Amino acid sequence: MDQEPKRPLILYIEDNADNRLLVRRVLEAENYRVLLAGDAHSGYAEALAYRPDLILMDINLPEVDGYTVTARIKTTPGLENIRVIALTANVMKGDREKTLAAGCDGYIQKPIDVDALPDQIANFLNNQPDPT
Ligand code: MN
Repeated sequence: MDQEPKRPLILYIEDNADNRLLVRRVLEAENYRVLLAGDAHSGYAEALAYRPDLILMDINLPEVDGYTVTARIKTTPGLENIRVIALTANVMKGDREKTLAAGCDGYIQKPIDVDALPDQIANFLNNQPDPT
């Protein structure tokens, strides 16, 4: 019996509704399964409940920021091996280092490039080094 390859599950934690819709549209067109969360608390809860294959993490979130929830995910048994990719407009010098220091496995710069995003996601899912 043929077995259909498992469609990767991607969790996107983002407080901006337009970005959530945009990324969901792009990723669903690539046949990924997509979970969305609008804040750190619900994002962490969804990560625990669904153990996604990849997490896209906005950094500027209300109340609890993306650095904090990434560090929490990376110190939670069972979640620590999920790759977390920061998706952020914070592009000042040192922001990339701060993102990686928080435990993120990679970094995608906003504004989101919808043409580049599918390849960026595929590279992270295939565990290739961040090309940027
Ligand atoms: Mn935000």
